[in-house]
Amino acid sequence: MSVRVRFAPSPTGHLHVGGARTALYNWLFARANGGTFVLRIEDTDEARSTEASTQAIFDGLRWLGLTWDEGPVVGGEYGPYFQTQRRDRYDACAARLVAAGAAYPCWCTGEELAARRAAQAERGEDPRYDGACRRLSEADRAAKRASGAPAALRFATPAEGESAWDDVVRGRVSFRNDVLDDFVLVRADGLPTYNFACVVDDHEMRISHVVRGDDHISNTPRQLLLYAALGATPPVFAHASMILGPDGKRLSKRHGATSVEAFGELGIVPEGMANFLALLGWSFDGKQELFSLDELARVFTLEKIGANPAVFDTQKLEWVNGQHLKRLDEAERTRRVVAFLASRGRELAERGEEWRLAFVRALGERLRTLADAETVGAFALDDEVVVDEAAWADLGARPGAADRLLALAARLEGDAEYTLASLEALTRSLATELGVKAGELIGMARVALTGQKTSPGIFEVLWLVGRERAVARVRGAAARLAAEPRSPMAT
Ligand code: GLU
Repeated sequence: MSVRVRFAPSPTGHLHVGGARTALYNWLFARANGGTFVLRIEDTDEARSTEASTQAIFDGLRWLGLTWDEGPVVGGEYGPYFQTQRRDRYDACAARLVAAGAAYPCWCTGEELAARRAAQAERGEDPRYDGACRRLSEADRAAKRASGAPAALRFATPAEGESAWDDVVRGRVSFRNDVLDDFVLVRADGLPTYNFACVVDDHEMRISHVVRGDDHISNTPRQLLLYAALGATPPVFAHASMILGPDGKRLSKRHGATSVEAFGELGIVPEGMANFLALLGWSFDGKQELFSLDELARVFTLEKIGANPAVFDTQKLEWVNGQHLKRLDEAERTRRVVAFLASRGRELAERGEEWRLAFVRALGERLRTLADAETVGAFALDDEVVVDEAAWADLGARPGAADRLLALAARLEGDAEYTLASLEALTRSLATELGVKAGELIGMARVALTGQKTSPGIFEVLWLVGRERAVARVRGAAARLAAEPRSPMAT
C-alpha cells in the first residue's frame, strides 16, 4: 500500500503548535515511507475561514520546511484541495447514502433542537438527537419536502453494535454505536459537516493513514460508520496525544506564544522548532534528541508516538534551538542573526562583514535564540549600556577602580592597532604595571563596557564596541565612580 497522508487544517487562525506538530508527523511519515503528503484546506466553516489564515498556514508550513506534494498552489491528481470547491462530491455521496437508506433529511429547526436539548439536560440525560425525523413516514417526508422548508441531512446511526479500530498510538479503541447519535452530514444551508467532508475527501484522495490530534478521537467512530456506509475501506488511524502547558492544562494562548509564526518572532529557527515539535510526543530511542528534518525523516515511525500527553517546555525549546544554531556554519548563523535583528529594526549593514561575524562569534553559546543576540549583544548594538546595579556595586567595591579604569582608557586611546591581540597585550601589561591580576582589571572593564557581571570575552567586547565608544564608556564609569560617595569598604 502506498502511503498517502494529509494535513487538513481549518483556516481559522495561525498555524499553532498542535497543528504544526500534526503536519510534521504526517510529513515525516510520508518522507520516511516514500509516500505523498497532501495539504487540504477544510474551509467549510465559511463564517470563520479566512484567506489570511490560509496564507498564514502556507507560510508556517513553508517556514518549517514542510513542503506538500499535493494541495493548494501545487495542485495534484485528487484536487481541488479546498473543501468549498468540492461541493459536488459531497452532494454525490450524500445522494448515495440517502438512496441506501443510510441518511435521512431532518427538518428540525434550531429552536426545536435547543428546546429538546434543554429538556434532556433537565432530565440529566446526555444531549443527543432524538430521532424525530428518522421516524417520519414517507408521506410526512413528502409533505415536508413540498413545504420547501430547508432540511439538513442526518446519518442513520445503527442502534446496535460498536465502532472500533486499532489505533497505531492507542491500541484498540471502541465506541458503542448507541452513544453516537444521528449526526448531521449536511447542514440545512447545504454545507457538509467536518465528519462527512473529511471522510469523503480522505476516501477520494486515497488517504492511507490519518495522523491527527487525539481531540478527534470521538469523531473517529462516526467516520468509521461513514466509511462502512459508503462501502469504503477506512484508513489506518493514529491519534497523537494532546500538548499540555507547564501547568498541566491544555496548551493555549494563556501559556504565551503558540503560533509557529510567533516563535519565529521570538528568535526560534525552523530547524529548532521542527526538532522540538517532533519531540512533543515522539521519541526515537529515548536518548538522541537532536535531529535535522532529514534525519527525522529517516528514522520516524508512527509506533514511537507516545500515548501520554506531551508537556510544552520552553526551556527545552530554547536548548534545542541553541543546539541547532550551533550546528549552523558561522556564515549562516551570522546571516540569521543579522536578518533577525533587521526584522527588529536594527540594521547591521554599515558595520561590515568582519564585525558581524565577530559579533555572532562572541555571542557563542549564549545564543540560544536569535533574540538573545539583542540582549547578550546589547553592549555592542546600543550606544548606551544598561548598568546592572549589583554589577555596579561590585565595581564600586573594588579598590582603586576609578584610577585603574582611567589608566585603561588611556591605553585604549593610544592603541593604534586595536586588534584582539593588541587589546589583550595592553590589558595584561597594564595589569602587571598596576600590580593587579589581569582578571581584576578585566572584571572592572567588563562592568564599565557592558554594565554586566558576565559578558562575552572582554577582548571581543572591546573590539566590537570600538575604540571611541570603549574609551568613552571606561572614562564615563571612572567619572561616575569618582563622583559617588565611597562605601567604607572601598576606601
Ligand atoms: N479540519 C480538522 C482540524 O483542523 C481536521 C481534522 C483531521 O485531521 O481529520 O482539526
